[in-house]
Amino acid sequence: MESELYAKVPERANFVARLPGSGGGPSLMLLSHTDTVVADAAEWQLDPWSGELRDGEIWGRGALDMKGQVAASAVTLATLAREGFRPAGDLVFAAVADEEVGEGFGLPWLCAEHPDAVRTDYALNEGAGERIELAGRPFYICSSAEKMSSPFRLRVHGRAGHASVPGIADNALVKAAPLIEKLAAYRPELELGPETSVLVEAVAGRPLEAAEALELARELDPAAAELLEPLLSLTLSPTMISASERRNVIPHLCEVVVDCRLLPGQTQAEVEPLLREVLGRGDYDLEWIEGRGGTRSALATPLWDAVESFVAEIEPEAAVLPVCVAGFTDSHWLREAFGTVAYGFFPTRTMDPQLAARLIHSADERIAVDDLELAVRCFRHAAVQVTGSR
Ligand SMILES: [Zn+2]
Repeated sequence: MESELYAKVPERANFVARLPGSGGGPSLMLLSHTDTVVADAAEWQLDPWSGELRDGEIWGRGALDMKGQVAASAVTLATLAREGFRPAGDLVFAAVADEEVGEGFGLPWLCAEHPDAVRTDYALNEGAGERIELAGRPFYICSSAEKMSSPFRLRVHGRAGHASVPGIADNALVKAAPLIEKLAAYRPELELGPETSVLVEAVAGRPLEAAEALELARELDPAAAELLEPLLSLTLSPTMISASERRNVIPHLCEVVVDCRLLPGQTQAEVEPLLREVLGRGDYDLEWIEGRGGTRSALATPLWDAVESFVAEIEPEAAVLPVCVAGFTDSHWLREAFGTVAYGFFPTRTMDPQLAARLIHSADERIAVDDLELAVRCFRHAAVQVTGSR
């Protein structure tokens, strides 16, 4: 198989392998990242770097996020190549160096510097795939959209003074307090995007308005409502504040950082007037810190069909639900650079999804071998379905 390392710096190389298509068919990338977050061995029951197999599970940092998917994707290409599979469109395996911290060694760098290596029509990446039960019915979650991480800073202005004589100053920290309360009290208008409409209809059995859907979720299961609510609107969470550096100096400036997540398709330009209306007039500046992600892929695609037909094969009574996830993955780089249809789907049905969610980026991360094997079956199925066998 053709393979190549692409590196901005040698110790952070990206690996790309390719089964070239015979021409004409759509191309598919199995995308994964090789870096992990840190692990503190003292918190773990087993050595986090051991990769130890115990009771049907492989232990180690990155087992779920996402060295399991790196391995399953590599096995997919290797076995198909060994069997003589000849795709019509290119089948690509990309294991990129830098996703967790995002310092520009990984996929964004590849998209900018080596676009031909990573441009495909379709991509399967991390983000979802877990089997869940809702209203007594099994579903597999496939992420097709991501919210935009769009934090902003409020700089609230006042006038400094000695803290023993508060009357002579204008305390910026005190002026920030009502602004924070207004942000916390704000209830944005709820709306159903395309993914969430499909999800709600699949679970409820009929189309619902956003508010109705949230009400129904609250009746069915408070956990479902917690998951649904952030998919219906932007969210605002004030998380950081700084003011005076000295106890006896009244601050002339107070900075509040707000973690804000926009719905895919929402822009900072359309949200900013809303925020200013919520905050009202005052001595403050509002400045966006960044805007990342916030992309979606269409649902009626050959890759979606491949995910559905795989699920139908392993569990005929289960359905695939599209979700918009609150965080973002590398998928947004592909969508932005090439218009790639990218989904997050790594099917899991053996490990409890709530346990898996707790183990990611935490101690005792591990993956069920059965789930790894399931993913290989899924990726092989998708590769053959999408890139074509002739
Ligand atoms: Zn990850």
